[in-house]
Amino acid sequence: MPKTKKVGPTRGLGTRYGSTVRKRYVKVVTELKKPHRCSQCGFVRVRRVSVGVWKCSKCEFTFAGGAYTPVTKLGTVAKRAAKSAQAAIDERQMTTAEATPAESANEESND
Ligand SMILES: [Zn+2]
Repeated sequence: MPKTKKVGPTRGLGTRYGSTVRKRYVKVVTELKKPHRCSQCGFVRVRRVSVGVWKCSKCEFTFAGGAYTPVTKLGTVAKRAAKSAQAAIDERQMTTAEATPAESANEESND
C-alpha cells in the first residue's frame, strides 16, 4: 500500500518526541532555514553558517546573532546596553580631557 511521503522538517522523526515538541521544532527550523534580510545591504540573502553565526551571500557580511534567528529580543536589549555604556565612557573621557587644561589655568592665576 503506497503511502504519500511526508515532507517538512519533521520527516524522519516519525511519531517520536510528541506532537507539541515537533510543532515547536517546525516553527524554529522554518524560521532558521528561510533567508533573512541583511542589515548591511538590505538584500534577503542572510543564511545561518553555524549556531549564532549569520552570513549574507550578497555582500559577504558575517555577523553574530541569535542561535535560530539573526536578531533576538535579548540581543537588541544587549546592544542598547552596550551602546549606552560606550556613551558613558566617551563622556568620562571628554570630562577628563577638559579638566587637564583647567588645572594648569588655576596655577597661573595664583596670587
Ligand atoms: Zn548583505
